[in-house]
Amino acid sequence: MTNSKSDVKANDIFAKAYDFTKAEEIKSEGLYPYFKPLQATDGTTVQIDGREVIMAGSNNYLGLTNDPRVIKAARDVIKVYGTGCTGSRYLNGTLDLHLELEEKLADFMNKDACVLFSTGYQTNEGAIQTIAGRKDVIFSDKDNHACIVTGTLVSNAKTMRFRHNDMEQLEKLLKRADEKAGKIIVSDGVFSMSGTIAKVPELVELKNRFDARLYLDDAHAIGVIGDKGRGSASTFDLMDEVDLISGTFSKSFASLGGFLVGDQEVIEFIRHNSPAHIFSASMPPANVATVLKALEILQEETWRLDRLQEISDYMRNSLQDMGFNVWSSQTPIIPVVIGGMKDCFQFWKGLFEAGVYVNAVVPPGVPQGQSLVRTSYMATHTDDHLNRILEAFRKVGLDQGIIDQNGHSLLD
Ligand code: PMP
Repeated sequence: MTNSKSDVKANDIFAKAYDFTKAEEIKSEGLYPYFKPLQATDGTTVQIDGREVIMAGSNNYLGLTNDPRVIKAARDVIKVYGTGCTGSRYLNGTLDLHLELEEKLADFMNKDACVLFSTGYQTNEGAIQTIAGRKDVIFSDKDNHACIVTGTLVSNAKTMRFRHNDMEQLEKLLKRADEKAGKIIVSDGVFSMSGTIAKVPELVELKNRFDARLYLDDAHAIGVIGDKGRGSASTFDLMDEVDLISGTFSKSFASLGGFLVGDQEVIEFIRHNSPAHIFSASMPPANVATVLKALEILQEETWRLDRLQEISDYMRNSLQDMGFNVWSSQTPIIPVVIGGMKDCFQFWKGLFEAGVYVNAVVPPGVPQGQSLVRTSYMATHTDDHLNRILEAFRKVGLDQGIIDQNGHSLLD
């Protein structure tokens, strides 16, 4: 039975769904940029609506999702273990492959121990919920990823949120908190929309001064920045000072899943107590094998990290020289701020028609009036790809009155 809006009573719990017209409005204007089905991809290019466009909006930083060695690793393990684990790690869902991956990641990150989760989202949500209890306080950056926010909401701890990267406010909150409470500061290592690196030295200083612990979500940092790709803390040579570091496999590691590294006792506690770990099926074998191979390639082919850094700098500088506002990007995540939501969708559409796929991000993903297109780069983008992306930005930026010919922004 299908209801129409007029059949739905105001107190029907579904009323909000029948009132939700925003997406339809934007679709009717031909500007809807979301849920675009990709028909095929080789990583750097994708087929959409039967056309080939350059992918400049993926988190496939090392370009490994279509690497023949990674694909072969996934295929080979399916023959031995099948396609799924059909149970949680706690019960029937632990494979020797999971243990091998946990050991290799702990080694790679120079930490005692590692626990895997089935997604990056579950990793942060599950770990924060578990480690922060009723008598504890979580200090969380306001721009932290949604899974950290969820973790704080489902935990029994008190949460104090500080303005993005505002160390003075964090200090004030730490001072204000009950001295006897357990304290943990949680921050993205690289912020997913701005591409900014967290102020790790300041976070470490504060956590030491106030007897707190420090947790970094390095989803966009491991396999991207730092010594051998070890993430945000390693860019400051501060790996030993960070108590817990999480990562995801859905970006550099070309798969799906997540992990947390830290001291043995803390990891064992989370392994045995996190609902997200215990009550959810474990990573399928092909996903684990993909990560094992990607980790090996990351360590052997260091040119990938060098190339990523080189092209990120090139793209950031080139976009800036054209007059675009790239916010505070320091990594391969390079946002281009457009402003209004509709203008952002128009810009997205122009780029798509010019053969470039990026991500449109509008409030609440970013503050009001700061809608942006998020671009991100891969070690496997060729110079030709990059120059075609830049040409498209120049053309659409000029056509839509966002930049002028002399490299100036025309936005207020
Ligand atoms: N943390 C951050 C900072 C992220 O950007 C994301 C996803 N984009 C996640 C965690 C969740 O990871 P996943 O998509 O692998 O579940």
